[in-house]
Amino acid sequence: MSDVATLDSKPGAGCGAPEVLRERGQREVFCGLTGIIWLHRKIQDAFFLIVGSRTCAHLMQSAAGVMIFAEPRFGTAIIEERDLAGMADANDELDKVVTRLLARRPDIKMLFLVGSCPSEVIKLDLSRAAQRLSKRFLPDVRVLNYTGSGIETTFTQGEDMCLASLVPELPAASEGDAPNLLIVGALADVVEDQFVRTFGKLGIEEVSALPPRRSTELPAVGPHTRFLLAQPFLGETARLLESRGAQRLAAPFPLGVEGTTGWLKAAADAWDVKAETFEAVVAPGQQRARVAIERYRERLAGQSLFFFPDSQLEIPIARFLSRELDMQLVEVGTPYLHRQHMAEELALLPTGVQLSEGQHVDRQIDRCRAARPDLTVCGLGLANPFEQEGLTTKWSIELVFTPIQGFEQAGDLAELFARPLVRRTKLEV
Ligand code: SF4
Repeated sequence: MSDVATLDSKPGAGCGAPEVLRERGQREVFCGLTGIIWLHRKIQDAFFLIVGSRTCAHLMQSAAGVMIFAEPRFGTAIIEERDLAGMADANDELDKVVTRLLARRPDIKMLFLVGSCPSEVIKLDLSRAAQRLSKRFLPDVRVLNYTGSGIETTFTQGEDMCLASLVPELPAASEGDAPNLLIVGALADVVEDQFVRTFGKLGIEEVSALPPRRSTELPAVGPHTRFLLAQPFLGETARLLESRGAQRLAAPFPLGVEGTTGWLKAAADAWDVKAETFEAVVAPGQQRARVAIERYRERLAGQSLFFFPDSQLEIPIARFLSRELDMQLVEVGTPYLHRQHMAEELALLPTGVQLSEGQHVDRQIDRCRAARPDLTVCGLGLANPFEQEGLTTKWSIELVFTPIQGFEQAGDLAELFARPLVRRTKLEV
């Protein structure tokens, strides 16, 4: 693979848009299977069947090892060597596994066949398999498929692929239906409930979420649908929703006081909510969030921060930490920059911030070592060696496992970054 690095300030990104260092080279990221870890907890009657190898099963086990399960709702149908060598009909084997699984687990109402590198290597057509199995198991179980393979972008892409596979299944909203608001992106239930309550106070009553908590509650979509992205890594899902007539409400992401206010405001404006009503509804939450954040200012203000590209949450979080906690951004790396979805965020970043897109991990490690930031946000694979070198790190994967969106969680988000710095200080005493 050839290494590429270019400096790029794309047209259309607006005047004064930050320069982006685009790099191509070796990357240090998990694959999209990882998304199953939070998605299986969100859609409570779904099962994620990875069609993959022992490596895939091992990844899931280690990544999920930190979580606690009663009855797991994901598993791996292992592709054995004889499947890889074409000595067995992988479709027959898959049908047998699915039949056994569904007979044992009548609680499963939606089954995702999740593709992996091995299933793609043997060109197992999971979309045909899903259609075949759906025909057999509907109306009890709907079978869908998406791919979790590869390292083209990063691990959060798995959620995008999963939600994109749901979009064609959403019922069509009828012409006469009232406008409805769709929150797109998996949020912790408690956070989703808070947002729905806030929208209710603003007078926005028709609110649903994608993914839904139960597969039987798929929200309707149509030209009257307005949607807010709750996560910044849902490019394909957004594209498919738009192809069904829904309109994305441009907004920053709901992280910190500023991001949450902007996100709620985008919906309020689309529903013509009066400015004074909006102020009255959001002011108490804003105030609570400011107080919660303030507790971490002393620890975080002035500290330098380096983001490796991993979760795709880097830019909104960098915006929050720099504008609300006065942290100094050394470099903000993102695996992929969706300029349209990120436009509101980019406009809020401090001038001159170094953005990088994609990864050439060796070069980025060199830059990080040279800068010796106070805090480095990176994947698990880089964190331990950096700690050994005396750098303080934060695992980026925690950002998708922890409820961090909304006013009530703003303090927790700040605390995630203060914690490693406090720990380092204690170790040094
Ligand atoms: S899908 Fe590919 S990258 Fe992911 S665990 Fe399986 S083999 Fe590895």
